[in-house]
Amino acid sequence: MIIGVPKEIKNNENRVGLTPAGVIELVRNGHKVYVQATAGEGSGFMDEDYTTAGASILPSIEEVYGIAEMIIKVKEPIESEYSLIKEDQLLFTYFHFASYEPLTHAMIKQKAVCLAYETVERADRSLPLLVPMSEVAGRMSIQEGAKYLEKPLKGRGILLGGVPGVRPAKVMILGGGVVGTNAAKMAAGMGADVTILDTNLARLRYLDDIMPANVNTFMSNEYNIRELLPTHDLIIGAVLIPGAKAPHLITRDMLKEMRPGTVVVDVAVDQGGCIETCKPTTHENPTYIIDDVVHYCVANMPGAVPYTSTLALNNATLPYAIQLANKGWKKACADSNELKLGLNIVQGKVVYKGVAEAFNLDY
Ligand code: NAD
Repeated sequence: MIIGVPKEIKNNENRVGLTPAGVIELVRNGHKVYVQATAGEGSGFMDEDYTTAGASILPSIEEVYGIAEMIIKVKEPIESEYSLIKEDQLLFTYFHFASYEPLTHAMIKQKAVCLAYETVERADRSLPLLVPMSEVAGRMSIQEGAKYLEKPLKGRGILLGGVPGVRPAKVMILGGGVVGTNAAKMAAGMGADVTILDTNLARLRYLDDIMPANVNTFMSNEYNIRELLPTHDLIIGAVLIPGAKAPHLITRDMLKEMRPGTVVVDVAVDQGGCIETCKPTTHENPTYIIDDVVHYCVANMPGAVPYTSTLALNNATLPYAIQLANKGWKKACADSNELKLGLNIVQGKVVYKGVAEAFNLDY
């Protein structure tokens, strides 16, 4: 199969759909890979790295879309790319169709085959192509939180790990899933005093078993959250209720119970956030302050660490990309229910219920 890797053109997107390591695997499987010039630069991969791996470099995005049977990328195509997409062309990328109607109509019109990373789903209902980005965001949330706790950045001026003779900071993590677990590991490693809250008791039992001694678990309910707020320095929002908006576990009036300079990193901002005062921010302007509480609510946290994020994403997408390239999308999806659930729009028809329902389209 002929595979194309365009350069991401969405604002501030430095990730790339395929690494040189991925090129080697696809070429070994008999495929031809075309990469747009400088596509990997933002993630630290130069054109020579790709040619050494066996890819060919094409100077323009038009040539990449023009030649490829399968496009592998990171973000959904943006408007200037719509007309480049060909009938029957397989697009393997994040789409998030339900959040953007014009993209949905454009992909129906282009009659492409859209296989969305975010809906590839395992039998246990886990989403293997979302997990890597949650791992990145979870680990990064502590790095960012530690930074914004510094006084010049309007935080309380407390060091996460303390020092001998001085207590460490207290970190409260709402949600003990992928983001929360990764955040807890980082915070614990830095010596903080960590509490994870979740509504799932089985999950709390598991976390209690695997986490180090400076991590405690606590049932998530309003009473317990109110109890912790006055004494905690860093709060991580990491809740997810699949298919629904995040619940507001910290309401506006609860901000008054926190000390000035407390930092909230609401990773769940992409689902509306689990703190009521959360509104999306960007890497250029990541924080704002309400009632002396520093809010960090960047919606695409992994974008700040493209090297790590690109490699993490590729580790997860490559086995699926190889199946698609080796078998073609029809056979690959017939053989794998995981991949089949990734199909959202096929040759002009919406085939994913959530997308059809979002915009009242035939399904
Ligand atoms: P997950 O499904 O692995 O974990 C969510 C956890 O929340 C589960 O353990 C669940 O039991 C728990 N939960 C549900 N209701 C709760 C409540 N009332 N109180 C406490 N816990 C509750 O999800 P995840 O992969 O960890 O993702 C968490 C959020 O982070 C999602 O909204 C995801 O989209 C978002 N995310 C954001 C970024 C970013 O850049 N901002 C990046 C990756 C993921």
